[in-house]
Amino acid sequence: MSGLQQVCVLGATGSVGLSTLDVIARHPQRYQVFALTGFRRLAELQALCLRYQPRYAVVPDAGAARELQGVLRSAGLSTEVLVGEAGLCEVAAHPEVDTVMAAIVGAAGLKPTLAAVAAGKKILLANKEALVMSGALFMQAVRRSGAVLLPIDSEHNAIFQCLPRDYARGLDAVGVRRILLTASGGPFRETPLTELEQVTPEQACAHPTWSMGPKISVDSASMMNKGLELIEACWLFDATPAQVDVVIHPQSVIHSLVDYIDGSVLAQLGNPDMRTPISHALAWPARIDSGVAPLDLFRIARLDFSPPDEMRFPCLRLARQAAETGGTAPALLNAANEVAVAAFLERRVRFPEIAVIIETVLTAESAQVVDALDTVLAADARARAAAGAWLSRHGR
Ligand code: NAD
Ligand code: MG
Repeated sequence: MSGLQQVCVLGATGSVGLSTLDVIARHPQRYQVFALTGFRRLAELQALCLRYQPRYAVVPDAGAARELQGVLRSAGLSTEVLVGEAGLCEVAAHPEVDTVMAAIVGAAGLKPTLAAVAAGKKILLANKEALVMSGALFMQAVRRSGAVLLPIDSEHNAIFQCLPRDYARGLDAVGVRRILLTASGGPFRETPLTELEQVTPEQACAHPTWSMGPKISVDSASMMNKGLELIEACWLFDATPAQVDVVIHPQSVIHSLVDYIDGSVLAQLGNPDMRTPISHALAWPARIDSGVAPLDLFRIARLDFSPPDEMRFPCLRLARQAAETGGTAPALLNAANEVAVAAFLERRVRFPEIAVIIETVLTAESAQVVDALDTVLAADARARAAAGAWLSRHGR
């Protein structure tokens, strides 16, 4: 058994989780699936358990656990099924786990990801919301436990690849002038502003270059995703918000860039397929086959760049403001966004109202210094309540 990296995949049934399992399946001599977790698509989780035969599976409630346990037992598997947040934290911190893929969407991933951090695991971070919410505490916990934190978000993975190994000395110390985060601009990059009132969840989720879960797809359409990524970059690379610029690059071939003081600009390129950053982080510092097709520059032929339009994308402005305010402001922003996006996906609010809800919450709720996780969780709860109050006031 030894020599095999034991991997826990939090959010195994999602888009990033499935891409992770696709890479793992290509390298059975390197990786073994130790735990898989799912929340809603439990038939898929069951199929994944039958295929990967993990030691543990985690489901949201006792009823689902009994059902899955029964099926796995009759199939002759000894997989143990655990329940809820406690189960997620247990598998994320299990002594036999080497690597944790944090791919739960939203604030639900915070505690399990922090459990993996506290246990000093190698953490492959896709769940950007966890870092956005708890930034300073998260990074302190990484330093304290000696966890290895590797970014899965394609932009941050690109930046990581373009930075020198010793970037933790500080961006100034390693000669970095600024970080350039690329953004596709999403499906509404050129939609007339007056038509944004009418756009549907299906249109918002039809991303031009990436195939992703519904929440991050809507975030990409509003560019809140890039706002969350700006905050994520500040924490991961110890940058100020002013050191991070956003560049619209519709082809999504350059995944981000680092601008050095000598005028050199390093970029990482590749086809838009999450299996590249996943493989990079899984094997780091080695390189392994990801199953991603080689980049065909002649077929791409051209790369375009333009500045983002904050009139069209107010969420980007709100996120930059929250990054500059600091404290619990990013947690408030994230929670208000989660409520607003869920309501949009349920057709209870119109697309431009996502930004209106977030701005209303950020105006009403003041940010506090983050001293403990409870402060973050309280800010998250206050913002959810305030966003819920907006929905009730407007009859949604
Ligand atoms: P998804 O919706 O496809 O999958 C989400 C996963 O989280 C599923 O396995 C689901 O079962 C689980 N989950 C949802 N709610 C949960 C809860 N309350 N408790 C426990 N588990 C829960 O999402 P995704 O697109 O795979 O994104 C996952 C994370 O990765 C997000 O934070 C996203 O921002 C980030 N990310 C995704 C991509 C991408 O290409 N999809 C790229 C970069 C970053
Ligand atoms: Mg990204």
